[in-house]
Amino acid sequence: MPPWRFHLRARRLEEVHSERAEFDRVKSAGQLCTGPTRHPSLHRRPNLRMRLFPPARPHSIRPLLLGTLLALVPPAHGQAPLPPSPLSGLAYDVPYFPGARYEAAVPAPEAVLGFPVGTRPATPAQIERICRALAEKSPRVRLVSYGTTHQGRPLFYLVIATPAQLARLDALKADLAQLADPRTVTAAEGDRLAATLPAVAWMAYAIHGDELSAGDGALAVAHHLAAGTGDDVKALLESLVVIIDPLMNPDGRERCLTVVAQNRTGQPSVDDQSMLHTDAWPSGRTNHYLFDMNRDWLWATQPETRGRIRAVSEWHPHYFMEGHEMGAQDTFLFMPAREPVNPNLPATAKAWEERFARDQAAAFDARGWRYYTGEWNENWYPGYSASWAALRGAIGNLYEQAGIVTDAVRRPEGTLESYRESVHKQVVSTMAN
Ligand SMILES: [Zn+2]
Repeated sequence: MPPWRFHLRARRLEEVHSERAEFDRVKSAGQLCTGPTRHPSLHRRPNLRMRLFPPARPHSIRPLLLGTLLALVPPAHGQAPLPPSPLSGLAYDVPYFPGARYEAAVPAPEAVLGFPVGTRPATPAQIERICRALAEKSPRVRLVSYGTTHQGRPLFYLVIATPAQLARLDALKADLAQLADPRTVTAAEGDRLAATLPAVAWMAYAIHGDELSAGDGALAVAHHLAAGTGDDVKALLESLVVIIDPLMNPDGRERCLTVVAQNRTGQPSVDDQSMLHTDAWPSGRTNHYLFDMNRDWLWATQPETRGRIRAVSEWHPHYFMEGHEMGAQDTFLFMPAREPVNPNLPATAKAWEERFARDQAAAFDARGWRYYTGEWNENWYPGYSASWAALRGAIGNLYEQAGIVTDAVRRPEGTLESYRESVHKQVVSTMAN
């Protein structure tokens, strides 16, 4: 006990003894508790008697009441909320890239998020931080800004390639532009460029801001390609430049995640009719002024679209994928598209769509995942992302994953599909193609 506390305690004992002596004196004088004539010293300290001589009440119910109340009070856990009750089937810990090893110098997304990718949706700010960290630490990554949203958020894409290709980006883009324009290249020169240039794959995620799994899938893929030490990653980047646009609609994603944060409860919600899974009007699908940017490629009315058109036009990608989500009780849809198909697309477009679909189907079959193809997604309107890119010479592709939003959704047969599993399907689709 520190000396000052000892001193205070001694003083307090002295005071109690003095009050006790005063009480005895007043009591013996017959001046105790007689209404208005109560002794002044007792009037100043009305609880003294109770403290010194508690009344004897052998049959009092107060201890019983106190004990009952204490039993009803939950045990203290500081300020932390109670943990949710376990929910069978909610946990999904299948690794996205089994056995993969990574460069330690390149930060894994969980180092920024504080949790493994896909455990819950990353915010636009978190996605940006992860991408900037990858670009800063990985010699295979370059971050390129291409615009600003109405709400002031940055728009950017990652170029993931070998360090040698990144060192000659301007020359690479010039070669790609030459290959893409038959008016300026001879057949022999075209063949030479096609044989020596890497293919360019443009991976565009979540133009609808409330289709969250696509953005988290992009993070997992970006880290794998930026930091993977496996021969498969190195071989892939020898023949391919991968461009990842992980956050096409950050304003919409932020709006969606705000609704999720405001409506979530301690216990995970797996009912797809809940506000968590249905979003509130106007939802995060659109941008700040409620434009559906996946209808805007033809018209270019929005700054996001104008920035993207400039960026894609610099690269002339050979492959362009758009990653989406659809209804929570759906499964997974991919190309080829159903009719109508734009008559200006080359005859080879459908053949390529079918080839990509076979690879994707094989990857899903290997995991026992359900999917379908050739339904509802038409390929006529040139304002869709991949349709616009296909009319500019790319092979267009599209993924539609069941939208889980967060936690999981209970399906009609009673099983749960978790948010993390939905992210896994975006990752597997990207790598399969
Ligand atoms: Zn969509």
